[in-house]
Formats: sequence, structure tokens, C-alpha cells
Amino acid sequence: MADLTRRQFVRRAGGAVAAAGLGSQLEWLAGCGSGGSSPPDFTRLARELKGLLVLPADRFYRAVSTPLNHRYANVHPQAVALCASADDARKSLLWARDNEMPVAVRSGGHNYAGYSNTPGLLISFDRMKRVVVDDAHNSLVVEPGARNTDVYRGLQPHGVAISAGRCPSVAIGGLTLGGGVGFSSRKLGLTCDRLVEAEVITADGKVRTCSERENSDLFWALRGGGGGNFGISTSYKFVTHPVSDVTLYSLEWDWAHAPKVFAAFQEAMAAAPDEFSARIGMGRPGQPNGKPGPPTVTALGQFFGPKKELVALLDPALTAAKPKQQLIARRTFWQAKNYFFATTPYGYYEVKSAYAHQPLSSAGIETLARWVDKWPGSSNGDGAGMAMFLSGGAINRVPADATAFVHRDDFALIAMETTWAAEDPKSVSRRGLDWIEGMADALQPHVSGFAYQNFIDRAQKNWQHAYYGSNFKRLEEVKRRYDPDDVFRFKQSIPLS
Ligand SMILES: Cc1cc2nc3c(=O)[nH]c(=O)nc-3n(C[C@H](O)[C@H](O)[C@H](O)COP(=O)(O)OP(=O)(O)OC[C@H]3O[C@@H](n4cnc5c(N)ncnc54)[C@H](O)[C@@H]3O)c2cc1C
Repeated sequence: MADLTRRQFVRRAGGAVAAAGLGSQLEWLAGCGSGGSSPPDFTRLARELKGLLVLPADRFYRAVSTPLNHRYANVHPQAVALCASADDARKSLLWARDNEMPVAVRSGGHNYAGYSNTPGLLISFDRMKRVVVDDAHNSLVVEPGARNTDVYRGLQPHGVAISAGRCPSVAIGGLTLGGGVGFSSRKLGLTCDRLVEAEVITADGKVRTCSERENSDLFWALRGGGGGNFGISTSYKFVTHPVSDVTLYSLEWDWAHAPKVFAAFQEAMAAAPDEFSARIGMGRPGQPNGKPGPPTVTALGQFFGPKKELVALLDPALTAAKPKQQLIARRTFWQAKNYFFATTPYGYYEVKSAYAHQPLSSAGIETLARWVDKWPGSSNGDGAGMAMFLSGGAINRVPADATAFVHRDDFALIAMETTWAAEDPKSVSRRGLDWIEGMADALQPHVSGFAYQNFIDRAQKNWQHAYYGSNFKRLEEVKRRYDPDDVFRFKQSIPLS
């Protein structure tokens, strides 16, 4: 981007509308409004921004417009405002409103359902990643585009942390608004639980400070009410917590033991203190020939305590069947975080989620194992499967109506995923999507009917209840107050009602 001058941007602006290629985007336009009648004046916007306005003719356009999930890469923004300041976001929003152009906001681009994409103006925080730690006040101020890895890098020299996610490239911008689950959440709370202040630009272009004292209804909604619903968050302030060493564990068993080990591991989960976190998963990788790879059952997590105590906690699972691979080791918090960092998925994928109020019955476990076993395959190495994340601890000590994040009395969150690659024929994606639908349906009798709003899924039935439960009505009220014209709108956004 550095070699592209502002003048070049302004010159290219005239060709933008023609190059936008809106023909295949009717679904998005139907959800977003009809657009203005006179051609939008991109030149004006480019001139007003401190950052850059990237247009379809620009050679960087693809890099800054393509969402992580390539399923939604067929929607092309007319322009991407790469904000350099909060004021850039404000100007972009007002410009889009003047031009009756739909907007979407993007921080890290990890939205599973493609909602941080638009055929209109994309307001991007990809260049706003500042992380400032204040030791005197135990606080952390973060710009929305900061990825988990940026946040941890900023925190490490200070020996303090918040609970962030496992994927290094997920941005704090979206993670916080939908909750934020990670391996420290049972001890430190969700990412949103440590939020004490945020700066938000609302649909009227006003910059609002949100906290328990100011705009407290909006502050309530920001903590779990979901990304892209109420305004544009331009800054987040969190309270930090000191961290030092942990004991991490990583275990793998023979697939033949899967149901037995899963049940025993749940027993360990149910008895564990807040210091213990856990993910148990069953999955299969994809292979270049499109066939499913061998199924695996694995467990991963950390314990804010000594190795001896962790081994005792894990005893039911370690004795149910001997792991074929086992690592239980003392590490610094930062080494453990590096160990846990998952590779960012690539290609095409679909996620579904569910909450379980209590450990799954053996029928529930066998259902999942059976479905994992029959994944039809793809050539995406990320493959498919399910993972259960232990909930509870500090997450469940917050009342369900204290923030918009309603999932406060669950045993665990369950995620299901299937992936495929560009080279796979359509029949592969179809079979994968049928498979995940079938697994989620088969799981329903064993779970609560709730789902995680950060694992947002276009096909989620009754999503209003599944994501927000008894908080949905209040979210509608906040929406009416701060976005009465429904500017921030997508297929599953909080409606005006
Ligand atoms: C590979 C992968 C790993 C993940 N791991 C975890 C995990 O460990 N824990 C967990 O809890 N979740 C996890 N998630 C889910 C993740 O938290 C959500 O997808 C999250 O919304 C992503 O935020 P983002 O800013 O990267 O994405 P984006 O796509 O940029 O944004 C997500 C949503 O928030 C809106 N939004 C983004 N920024 C702003 C802003 N500044 N103001 C207003 N609205 C905004 C967008 O419009 C969109 O609707 C993972 C997702 C993926 C794809």
C-alpha cells in the first residue's frame, strides 16, 4: 500500500462504481437497502480520510476486501475505507449514509457467516491495532483491529492478561462484542467481562463513551450483543489480571476409546476448579485425495496450578484409557498461549454451535462420535469435527442479565465445523453441509437450544433465542434507541421490531 499515493486513489475513484460488479449481490442488497440514485462521490471520501480508500481497480483491493471464509468472497465492496483513526470511521459512516450505501464493519474478518462484508462501503480496522497497557491502573486500551496475537504481545512485558481467544488472527473488535471464550475464561471471565469502557460511533455519527456510568444501556449491549449491531466500536478498555505460570496439557487417545475417554474426561471437567480449562474434540482431517483422514480424539487445556494437582484432576481420563500421546508440562502463561495458538483456517467452512447445561449422556457422546466417523471428506486439511469447551467458573458467576451475554449457566459450549477447499467439486461442499446439518440435528435432544453468537451461523434456527435468550427484548430496545434507521443491518442483526 505504501507506494500508492493519495492522488492515485482519488484519480481511480471515478472508475469504482463500474468496477464494483454488483450483479451477483442481490441477496445482500435486499438485506441492506437499495443504494443511492446518483453515483457516489468516492473522491470526496478519499480526500476526507487520514487513512486510505481502496477501490476495486487497486491492486491491493483483493487483499483488504476478501473475508477469511472464502464462501463469502463473492460479495465485493464498492470501496474499503482503511481507517487510520476513529474519525475516519465516523466520516466513512456519514458518507455512506449521505450516499444511501450499505455499510459493514470489519476488524479481523473472522465472522463465520460473512457478515463483515458488504456490496457497499466496508469500514475496516485492519490498520488500527494499537495496544496500550497502563500498569498503574491495571488497564489495557486496544484498537479494534488488534488481533489476539497483537494483544498478547502488548500484554506480555507487563505480566498481565485478559482472556482472549485461541486463534492468533481473530481481532478484539468482533471477539469482544460476541463474548470471547478462551483458555483463561473460567478464571478471568469472558473477554467482554473484563471490558470497562468502549468508544462507539453510533448511526447518527456521534462518538459515545460507553461504561457503567455513561450510555450504560449501550455498554450492556456491547458485552455479548453481537458484532455489527449497534454502532462502530473504535476503542476498548479492559481491566487486566496478573498471570505467571500454568501447567498445560495435550492428550490424544486411540479412536477406539473415544466414547469411553470422552465420558471420563467430562467427569474430570465437572469436578474441576476455575483454574482448569479444557477443550475435548473428535475430528478427522481432510486429505488431498478428498477422502477423510483417520479420526482422532484429543484434549487440550491449561491449569493455573501445579502439575501434580492437574494430573490428579485428569485422573478419570488418564485411567479410562492410556493416551497414545501425552504432554503435561509447566510453562509460562505466554509459552502456553503460543502452544495453544491454532493455525488460522483457510478456504471454505461452516460452523454450528450448541450449549450443554450438563455433561453429555453416553447417548449424546455416541451420537457425536458416530457423526464424526461418517464425515464424507474434503481436500481441506482442516477437515471437520466437533469440540467441547468447558464453561462455568467466572463465566457463570455473572448473572445472565448483567450483560447481553446470556449463556451463564452452562456446562460447556460445543462447536461443530466442516471445511472444504477451492479445488473440491460442489458435491463435496454439499455433502459436508448436509453432514453438519445432520450432526447438529442429531445433537439437539442432548443440548439446550442455545448457541454461541460469535460462532454465528446463517442456518441457525430461532437464532434470536439461541444467541440471546431472555436478553433479546432488551437488545431490541437498545437497537431502537441507538440505530433507529437500522443502518447496521445484516441477515441476523438485532431487528428494530
Ligand atoms: C479461526 C477462528 C477461530 C476462532 N476462535 C475463537 C475463540 O477461540 N474464542 C471465541 O470466543 N471465538 C472464536 N472465534 C469466533 C470469533 O470470536 C468471531 O468470529 C469474532 O466475531 C471475530 O471477530 P473479528 O473482528 O476477527 O471478525 P469480523 O469479521 O471483522 O467481525 C465480526 C463481527 O463483528 C462486527 N464488527 C467487527 N468489528 C467491529 C467494530 N469495531 N465495531 C462494531 N462491529 C464490529 C462485524 O461487522 C461482524 O459482524 C473464532 C473464529 C474463527 C474464524
